[in-house]
Amino acid sequence: MAEAVFKGSFTQQEPIGEAAIEAAVRVMRSGRLHRYNVVEGEVSEAAALEQEFAAWQGARYCLACASGGYAMHVALRAWGLRPGEPVLTNAFTLSPVPGAIHNAGGRPVLVETTEELTLDLDDLAAKIEASGARLLLISHMRGHLADMHALMALLDRHGVALIEDCAHTMGALWDGRRSGSFGVAACFSAQTYKHINSGEGGFLTTDDPELMARAVILSGSYMLYGRHSAGPPPEAYAEIRLDTPNCSGRMDNLRAAILRPQLRDLDRQVGRWNERYRAVEAELAGANGLNVPHRPPKERFVGSSIQFLTTEVAPAAAQDLLARCRARGVELKWFGAPEPQGYTSRHDSWRYIGRQALPRTDAVLARLFDMRLPLTFSVDDCRLIGRIIAECHALTAARLAS
Ligand SMILES: *Cc1c(COP(=O)(O)O)cnc(C)c1O
Repeated sequence: MAEAVFKGSFTQQEPIGEAAIEAAVRVMRSGRLHRYNVVEGEVSEAAALEQEFAAWQGARYCLACASGGYAMHVALRAWGLRPGEPVLTNAFTLSPVPGAIHNAGGRPVLVETTEELTLDLDDLAAKIEASGARLLLISHMRGHLADMHALMALLDRHGVALIEDCAHTMGALWDGRRSGSFGVAACFSAQTYKHINSGEGGFLTTDDPELMARAVILSGSYMLYGRHSAGPPPEAYAEIRLDTPNCSGRMDNLRAAILRPQLRDLDRQVGRWNERYRAVEAELAGANGLNVPHRPPKERFVGSSIQFLTTEVAPAAAQDLLARCRARGVELKWFGAPEPQGYTSRHDSWRYIGRQALPRTDAVLARLFDMRLPLTFSVDDCRLIGRIIAECHALTAARLAS
């Protein structure tokens, strides 16, 4: 029997829905694409989206902006990061995270990753002591949430503030509480490969009026901050409005218009992602030598991607597995590759932050594979993909043993 080959595309997202397309056309017909270009009494699409996102997330305030990376940079500055100050963050994350810290004038201090792909809290405690950092920018990388209660207790003990990068946890919960509601601020992305899609886009949420006032001015509000109906009252701007630079990075009404219907649909989409995740997971779970990180019962995750670790550590084994899967239409990413590829890079290729020794993370990354699960895949597609990976891995393991 011929081996089954998967024919779908790992980078093809679902089309934008008709309601969003109609909303976009309405904005274009009006000509008022800039968020502050409103007629008397009108609430712009961007401002309405901010109100809806704040309500959905359970945050007091929300700012929509140009990207998730921009939101992180603004959050760090609005929080009061000082030039050259250390900022703790995950060693296992994507490049916009150290990039945002650098952009805000901070110095990333990388923290180790566990086999469950969450922040290593022991290493965090050690690096809080060693660095004297006042802030952790946690990246809930690939949607894996650390034990948020243990994390908050540790940070509170040391007086360290938290900002959350929720690029992969928009819609996720820890113990019934939204990811992004634990820290002083949270950042989200609406880039095509995240959970809602406007091509580019980001959000910053917080309950802190002064932080949000600074963020709004930083984002490029000019003196039109009063049009941020999901922002703080005018008094919050009085002290800071002339002391805060304009680092232009607004969201426009066209993007906002296509995100509003998607936000209404997000909880349903989370269910669809998780069905697909569980289908791949079930196939991988039965395979010898493949470990899918365990998902704690307190975590409601969004399975928009899946990760697994192999027991083999040899780079040749990883290359063999990648090649076999590729030949059968399954595109895996491997975090152990020495050269950065596509979207994926690792901490040692961010040379501008200086080399940092992360032996535990390196040992995890050497065995870590990653795959997107776009909603254009059916649940049957996901079963097939899981089966292909398990079969290819068995062949790799057999070759290694012979
Ligand atoms: C995509 C991503 C971001 C940044 O989002 P952009 O909107 O692309 O700037 C931040 N963190 C992680 C982990 C991401 O994957």
